[in-house]
Amino acid sequence: MSVHPFHWTPAQGQRHASLDTRPGGGYPTGMSVKTLCNQQLTAENTDLAWLWLTCPDCDVEAHRLAGVPLINEPAEPERRSSGRHARKRSSVP
Ligand SMILES: [Zn+2]
Repeated sequence: MSVHPFHWTPAQGQRHASLDTRPGGGYPTGMSVKTLCNQQLTAENTDLAWLWLTCPDCDVEAHRLAGVPLINEPAEPERRSSGRHARKRSSVP
């Protein structure tokens, strides 16, 4: 029983989501799947492939399908203002 109509699958160096019917155990390696980012890709169901980064387009689309707003993740590195470039010293009288 799955809550969402889509499934994730690694393909072409990223983890994509697809609405295609998924066989038990997941899309097998070599299976052609239509991804949410509108591509026809070949699934790569290997342990290593699951460590790939999520396709941003599929991520957005998957969240839309699930009715979940995409959370603003703290992935964006905060710029630290701690002395990145030293301020020019104004000549002190
Ligand atoms: Zn994708």
